[in-house]
Amino acid sequence: MAIQLDLEKIEFDGVDLKRPLIMAGPCSAETEEQVMNTAAELKKYDIPVYRAGIWKPRTRPNTFEGVGSKGLPWLKRVKEEYGMLTATEVANVKHVYEALKFGVDIIWIGARTTANPFAVQEIADSLNGVDIPVFIKNPVNPDVELWIGAVERIHNAGIKKIAAIHRGFSTYQKSLYRNLPQWQLPIELKRSVPNLPIITDPSHICGNRELLFEVSQKSMDLDFDGLIIETHINPDKALSDAKQQITPAALNDLLSKLVLRKPNVENAVLQHTLEELRHDIDRLDDKLIDLLADRMKTSEKIGEYKKLNNITILQSSRWDELLNKRLELSGGKGLSDEFILKIFRAIHQESINHQTHIMNEIEQKAQEQEKAR
Ligand code: PEP
Ligand code: MN
Repeated sequence: MAIQLDLEKIEFDGVDLKRPLIMAGPCSAETEEQVMNTAAELKKYDIPVYRAGIWKPRTRPNTFEGVGSKGLPWLKRVKEEYGMLTATEVANVKHVYEALKFGVDIIWIGARTTANPFAVQEIADSLNGVDIPVFIKNPVNPDVELWIGAVERIHNAGIKKIAAIHRGFSTYQKSLYRNLPQWQLPIELKRSVPNLPIITDPSHICGNRELLFEVSQKSMDLDFDGLIIETHINPDKALSDAKQQITPAALNDLLSKLVLRKPNVENAVLQHTLEELRHDIDRLDDKLIDLLADRMKTSEKIGEYKKLNNITILQSSRWDELLNKRLELSGGKGLSDEFILKIFRAIHQESINHQTHIMNEIEQKAQEQEKAR
């Protein structure tokens, strides 16, 4: 069932927020000079919204945790001198008050905060009666309900200008991405809350510069509503997320290469779902091959052991027992007996080959040693 939220168009007097909405600026405000110089460049390319983290949620302590409130006047200067809208992350009530006090135009709730309903509720309560757009990043874990729940909490506080930000989902798995895009989740969000705009955050999805274009293009092909891309005047020297930040000129280059097709969303969704499933198959096959290789190594160890103890390779009672156990294990898992028998016969044959090979090697070595004596 789709949820129909009572939302208003996000607009500001004197600023043209055309679609796709582009937000850019550094991961973190670091110094007044860095903030202003980055803004001056972005202004040249007509970027309407300037993002900068003031309070940074960092994985480990003793890393750069943002400049804090002293960076807010710098954002105010960006707004006054360049006419850009400003946006920053808030994670608690104090952040909300400070950001409002300094006239920040848009606030966003970070991925770690969205994952915590208590924190979101406190932020929502502090926003009662305030008219400010609130963007809500997906939670770090792939849970659409939790994401929708955060949107509802903010909406229930009377906020009508809301957008979701898709920044990918954290994973322990080795991956090309810093945070897996799992496009089916924002697609599911779109299905559940059709009138909620979705902005993609390719920077935090990718964690590198190389994939930014591809992810941005995908977002456009899915007919999402905007992009938030980390941009720094000197990315290599950034105090946070250096690897994923790009210069304003590189951002302009990326944006100018984007193809805004008349979207065939059905097709794009289909294609991306397929790609994602194929990616899963690749990963599973990779695991299967590793498992088979491990299994053969263990067989070789058994071979060695048998040889040293003069036991025959094939002990038919063990083989019968193994086959029966495998059939039992696979029961009820949608795998036919015929398939399981075929697979395990092939695996067993390969095991015997490995064992024979290792036993022959041991035999040969023994003979060579014998000769040498
Ligand atoms: C950020 O936008 O700099 C940030 C910390 O993002 P996220 O909450 O997605 O990790
Ligand atoms: Mn960042």
